Amino acid sequence: MRLSRYFLPVLKENPAEAQIVSHRLMLRAGMIRQQAAGIYSWLPLGYRVLRRIEQIVHEEQARAGHIPLLMPTLQPADLWRESGRYDDYGQEMLRIRDRHDRDMLYGPTNEEMITDIFRAHVESYKQLPLTLYHIQWKFRDEIRPRFGVMRGREFLMKDGYSFDLTREDALHAYNRHMVSYLRTYERMGLTAIPMRAASGPIGGDNTHEFLVLAETGESEVFYDARVPALKLGDRAVDYDDRAQVAAICEEFTSLYARTDETHDAALFEQIPEERRCIGRGIEVGQIFYFGTKYSEAMGATVVTPDGARVPVEMGSHGIGVSRLLGALIEANHDDRGIIWPEGVTPFPVGIVNLKQGDAATDAACEGLYAALAARGLEALYDDREDRAGAKFATMDLIGLPWRITVGPRGLANGVVELTCRRTGESEEMSAEAAVARVA
Ligand code: ATP
Ligand code: MG
Ligand code: MG
Ligand code: MG
Repeated sequence: MRLSRYFLPVLKENPAEAQIVSHRLMLRAGMIRQQAAGIYSWLPLGYRVLRRIEQIVHEEQARAGHIPLLMPTLQPADLWRESGRYDDYGQEMLRIRDRHDRDMLYGPTNEEMITDIFRAHVESYKQLPLTLYHIQWKFRDEIRPRFGVMRGREFLMKDGYSFDLTREDALHAYNRHMVSYLRTYERMGLTAIPMRAASGPIGGDNTHEFLVLAETGESEVFYDARVPALKLGDRAVDYDDRAQVAAICEEFTSLYARTDETHDAALFEQIPEERRCIGRGIEVGQIFYFGTKYSEAMGATVVTPDGARVPVEMGSHGIGVSRLLGALIEANHDDRGIIWPEGVTPFPVGIVNLKQGDAATDAACEGLYAALAARGLEALYDDREDRAGAKFATMDLIGLPWRITVGPRGLANGVVELTCRRTGESEEMSAEAAVARVA
């Protein structure tokens, strides 16, 4: 992408309305624009990151054997009357009436709708296990939308629903989700800690939230200092291997890690004092096992091997896809701007032309751009006529992991400069070497 032809409306000034760094940087880097309280347009740079996050979520869900579909944003109120949540959900639900006076709502979540799909099409235990998910916009009329996409009213969520015959099978689905989420966050370069949680309006006895440690997080968190160091790494996971999946969950949940909602001071004090950590965290996902709460209320049953009919065992499992952009920036930035982890960066590398219009420099930049493209890397090429300082400031602000700087002086010596955004270190090398290093 050539910057001269792109749409990157960066702001020079700090927007006054942004209270936390991720919101400030997303506005300054031209990623989002607020259209109403808690409702945003995703400008091209922000949209690229959003799609990368979605892509990682899809890939890891596929690995776990979960199946994507797409449900609508608008739902009929009648489904929610069946579960009893139409009245219970309260003011966070945006209620709408259509021209025929039918009550509708903008979905805050999809348990009712997926249960309706299930009961219409699944009859037998032989069709289980089944996990269906979608990535779709949600609306919750939050009393205090704030911090940009972190607490929006319209936000993008991955929500998955598992259906199983027995409680034991359903707990395996729960564990599978936990492991797939650990891998999803790790691929984004994030440490998200599973913490035992309280269940809230979805209901259920087994539930964990995934929290990214950050000072600006809305939850208070208490954890053993050894927890953030736990990593899945690149170990092979067989999602059908119940014992292996359960052992990974055990590894990640046996040390103390809880939010204020479930914190137990007496248990916490059993940890040696030097390992007791208290901090703040951002909730980027949550998994629930809730058994037959919805299937019983809505008549979603399956025939068992002995011919009986039982309500199906369910769980629901969510990832805050749009909130993740905020969490990623809270965890990865410095005074100059964002520092994207490689897994989610909007472009893998930027090219800065120090002397636009100089035939040799332009040709070297074009050559570099093409060589990167040949390796499958789409560079963001700053081909505008602007001061070097301004170009560097923009690159630093938008946070691409690598910058290749090309100018007449270096070219005379056969070198370009490769700069790592995270460490700030620069090194001179041939253009070929720079391409090889970035690839
Ligand atoms: P919170 O405690 O922050 O209000 P929640 O517990 O109500 O979130 P869930 O029902 O668990 O949210 O939804 C799954 C995920 O969707 C959350 O873990 C979070 O990452 C994300 N999410 C929830 N509400 C919002 C929101 N208003 N804006 C952006 N993301 C959200
Ligand atoms: Mg909420
Ligand atoms: Mg919550
Ligand atoms: Mg939650």
